[in-house]
Amino acid sequence: MLSKKVQAALNAHLNKELYSEYLYLAMAAYFDSTRFEGFARWMRAQASEEREHAEKFWTYIDDREGRVVLEAIARPPADYKGPLDVFQQAYDHEREVTKAIHELYALARADNDYATEVFLNWFIAEQVEEEKMTSQIVEKLRALGDSKASLLILDRELGSRSGG
Ligand code: MG
Repeated sequence: MLSKKVQAALNAHLNKELYSEYLYLAMAAYFDSTRFEGFARWMRAQASEEREHAEKFWTYIDDREGRVVLEAIARPPADYKGPLDVFQQAYDHEREVTKAIHELYALARADNDYATEVFLNWFIAEQVEEEKMTSQIVEKLRALGDSKASLLILDRELGSRSGG
């Protein structure tokens, strides 16, 4: 059985993962509108992963005999300055999510909720990957500059990501 405090924090985080899905869908829609099909595909795959993260929280809350409560999902930004701006915002967002996971972990620990600590271990490792992946794309985009020709090469590379 979850404590009220941990249950509320897990539900709040479930909402954050759903927001992440929504944010990456907004980024996919932006890339569709700017004809970067590969980046759009990458973002849709990323959005699907975020939905899976939310569902992991859902299942865990339910397994612990808690109650899943869905809240409103905030409106993500629709407009961006270009691919670098989008991926920079994705990286910044992942750093925020990492911080939120760490705070959740600290709360579980303070509450002596060992099962929640174990559950969160997967997310702690996952966030290392999420930050690394988005940060590497930001680095590549910085190196490429604004030339559409070179951006289209990276667009094709990222478009090969499966899923979504
Ligand atoms: Mg996530």
